[in-house]
Amino acid sequence: MLSPVDVPLTPPAAPPPRDAFGRAIGYLRVSLTDRCNFRCVYCMPAAGLSWLPRAELLTDAEVVEAVRQLAGLGLRRVRLSGGEPTLRPGLARIVAGVAAVPGVEEVALSTNGVRFLQDPGLAPRLAAAGLTRVNLSADSLRPDRVRAIARRDLGFDAVAGARAAEAAGLAPVKLNVVVVRGVNDDEVGDFARLTLRHPWHVRFIELMPVGELAAWDAVAGDGGEATADPLRRVVPSAEVLARASDALAAAGGLAVAGDGPVGNGPAAYYRAPGAPGTVGVITPMSHTYCGACNRVRLTADGRLRPCLFDAGAVDLRGPLRRGEALAPHVARALAAKPREHHLLAPALSPLRRAGGLRALSEVGG
Ligand code: SAM
Ligand code: SF4
Repeated sequence: MLSPVDVPLTPPAAPPPRDAFGRAIGYLRVSLTDRCNFRCVYCMPAAGLSWLPRAELLTDAEVVEAVRQLAGLGLRRVRLSGGEPTLRPGLARIVAGVAAVPGVEEVALSTNGVRFLQDPGLAPRLAAAGLTRVNLSADSLRPDRVRAIARRDLGFDAVAGARAAEAAGLAPVKLNVVVVRGVNDDEVGDFARLTLRHPWHVRFIELMPVGELAAWDAVAGDGGEATADPLRRVVPSAEVLARASDALAAAGGLAVAGDGPVGNGPAAYYRAPGAPGTVGVITPMSHTYCGACNRVRLTADGRLRPCLFDAGAVDLRGPLRRGEALAPHVARALAAKPREHHLLAPALSPLRRAGGLRALSEVGG
């Protein structure tokens, strides 16, 4: 019989590693593909981008191995993103592999949700594989506008997508709405009212001026100034919250429901009295989160990018394929994580401000 001192113990999980500014980095976003079945006007050019050759993508096993080694260094929460991660044939296999990694506490997915409606078995399969929850991109509740923003007619319906995720147990569902002035800002109230009927978290995201901007004019139908001044399309979160609260006035308006997790989305959540769902704002433009940043990103071709808007990245694919330990390479990436991004620096060109990023789809958003 084992005495208490002989009982084998699971080794204590490593604490999240810290970067040069003392920020604890426990959150990993993994892009599984740079491809997408949508061409959202604020994200990708209509013609797409120059896609990565397949041989350059991490394989399913390499993604899981990268997560295993990063979890060994203290990363705890993983979000799978893209491009559109549901286009990846091995997604359920990857979810299962990542969920089984010791130390990983959460495996979440960011998706446009189209495949949940095209393949009703997908959400249940992902849930069975160990997916914990889903963020759905949902920029409009009007079918004609969904088609105009996504520049694809794939029958997407945000409410049906959220219901499919919820029915599979992938809750709480978060709906991410990128608010673009003149394009969908008149739907803030409609999205906010969903929280009166559903336990969903509607998060309004301030548009980030990254990538091709000219196409917004075609959707908004309001002239050609966007290319010259893309910032005029940004709707500050204070304005969004005021509109949401007005829309919920009959239900008592919005009151603060609690602080959000630091560096992980909205700083605060709001709720109408008695409503099952909440409203939040993600404010990369009016308030940066850099001081509390807790994340790094792994691109589909295996580069560890310590900051969304900084071109610096460390290759992990080479070391993975050579069977080397990733720890020194991860340490290099963390040491290079900048104090803050320069997205709001007016003196720089738009591409420099975005750290050379042509689209958020390149790094998983
Ligand atoms: N395809 C998936 C989706 O749409 O959820 C995952 C990848 S997408 C790049 C991740 C997130 O980035 C989405 O919520 C999307 O709305 C957001 N996004 C993309 N371009 C953006 C921009 N220019 N400004 C703000 N958010 C953006
Ligand atoms: Fe695709 Fe997501 Fe970008 Fe839209 S936001 S084009 S769904 S990657």
